[in-house]
Amino acid sequence: MRKISLIIPCYNEESCLLAFDQEMSKIVEQMQEYEFEILYVDDGSKDHTLEVIRQIAQNRSYVRYLSFSRNFGKESAMYAGFCNVTGDYIAVMDADLQDPPGLLPDMVRILETGEYDSVATRRVDRAGEPPIRSFFARIFYKMINKISDADIVDGARDYRLMKREMVDVIVEMGERNRFSKGIFGWIGFRTYWYAFENVERAAGETKWSFWKLLKYSIDGIVSFSQVPLNIASWMGVACTGLSLLAILFIIVRKLVFGDAVQGWASNMCVMLFIGGVQLFCMGVMGQYIGKTYAETKKRPHYIVSECSDDQIKKIG
Ligand code: UDP
Ligand code: MG
Repeated sequence: MRKISLIIPCYNEESCLLAFDQEMSKIVEQMQEYEFEILYVDDGSKDHTLEVIRQIAQNRSYVRYLSFSRNFGKESAMYAGFCNVTGDYIAVMDADLQDPPGLLPDMVRILETGEYDSVATRRVDRAGEPPIRSFFARIFYKMINKISDADIVDGARDYRLMKREMVDVIVEMGERNRFSKGIFGWIGFRTYWYAFENVERAAGETKWSFWKLLKYSIDGIVSFSQVPLNIASWMGVACTGLSLLAILFIIVRKLVFGDAVQGWASNMCVMLFIGGVQLFCMGVMGQYIGKTYAETKKRPHYIVSECSDDQIKKIG
């Protein structure tokens, strides 16, 4: 009997979890030819999420859980999940029912044909999302696909059913600065894209503010592309070329007209421009150095403060 493992990252999801459990139990019942394991990862929630999870785990034999010592972020929650599940087929699913559990039977069926190693889901629209967020998301996906070799699909969700082999590779990739959408694309394997219409959150609010998303997109770019460093270098080359031309112009002017006093304004412009470009380039380099620093420290991705059983790795 094949085993399906689902990883549910939860951060302040007390209002969604019971509805999620209800939906999920229907699917478990419907797919009796499979064994199920549902691992809830409480990402340091500040509401009663953990209590609700404990209650669900008491009622359902197939439910396991772990709870982080603080909020480590969805990426760490997914990683902890991948490290601790035991199934043959594995998927991450949001707790807010935006990743419809109802797609699961179809996804499993596609995987079982043997033609694919993973079935990934993609929203075909962004209905219900603030237009400004959709706008920036579109720009981000266009840009990152141009400048990196990870294939990142616009509208792709983290909801993706994968075979064990793929998850073993993901666990092997122990980078601290994680951007799962990039990692999934980077490792390759044969992926089937399953399109569905966007579903709005069952209850509660999104955990992503504009600034959190901006930081996440910079993480994504720094993780999967060195193009910003190249841009910085080329800007350096362009500025050097321009300043050489300017120097030539100034020398010739001095020799021909002999006036040394004029030109204060243009001087300031050039100084400010070069100063700005230098600071920008240092900032770009700083981003990469900062990430490198975080990697060299090799701090754990997560720390577990409570869990359902002894099989769970407490620090990973
Ligand atoms: N999440 C998490 N840690 C965080 C933020 C979010 O585990 O720091 C979980 C959250 O509980 C949900 C999933 O990640 O199950 C997706 O979050 P959300 O629905 O807020 O994102 P959106 O769907 O708006 O992109
Ligand atoms: Mg959501």
